[in-house]
Amino acid sequence: MAGTIQLEVVTPEKLVVSEEATIVMAPGAEGEFGVLPGHTPFLTALTLGTLRYRDTAGTERCVFVNGGFAEALPDKVTVLAQSAERRCDIDINRAKAALERAKKRLEHSEDKAASTPDMDFERAKAALARAQTRISLAETRRNVSMQ
Ligand code: ATP
Repeated sequence: MAGTIQLEVVTPEKLVVSEEATIVMAPGAEGEFGVLPGHTPFLTALTLGTLRYRDTAGTERCVFVNGGFAEALPDKVTVLAQSAERRCDIDINRAKAALERAKKRLEHSEDKAASTPDMDFERAKAALARAQTRISLAETRRNVSMQ
């Protein structure tokens, strides 16, 4: 189909998205970037955040992505993420439980982390950020629309 990009979002566990899109916006490690059909090829790291795209019916879709890489070609965007799920597939209760677990772990390791870097502290901070991102995405009915 002319004027579209084939978007693939893949994790080590599953194929999350395989769909034609008219625009893709993704959370790059150096800031959000947009890809339109015919874009110059590039490869970039991703950060935790929300990938947004518009499907061929004009509907904006949102996908939670946790890090990884994106490859943009003129007619294809491939995202390899550590974990990802469509907004409609986010289990908000699971994310809230993960948030509470992470908060408890952070409370317990806070004093230790003040003196020495602590792997558990870093992991709990990352888990907290994943949970917060999932919750805010699941609770947002519509993100700022793509122009
Ligand atoms: P949890 O502690 O609940 O597993 P997590 O942040 O450690 O959360 P991840 O490592 O990011 O989880 O993801 C592991 C798998 O579980 C992935 O397939 C991811 O899509 C899925 N997943 C994690 N949390 C949720 C959620 N709240 N809703 C839907 N799928 C989720």
